[in-house]
Amino acid sequence: MKEGIHPDYAEAVVKCACGETFTTGSTKKALHVEICSKCHPFFTGRQKLIDTGGRVDKFKKKYGIVDNE
Ligand SMILES: [Zn+2]
Repeated sequence: MKEGIHPDYAEAVVKCACGETFTTGSTKKALHVEICSKCHPFFTGRQKLIDTGGRVDKFKKKYGIVDNE
């Protein structure tokens, strides 16, 4: 591997499908994404992603974990 050779790493303008634009470091000059931190459910809280179907409870039962209250 040769030293001193790096890809052009610069600020890239990222445009999201929701209309949000922001910059990030990238080898590309422009990027297009369908989801960003502004519209992603994880960040907006619009959709609950964690344990909606009682998966934790099933897991606890399977392994005999009991909550001590
Ligand atoms: Zn977005």
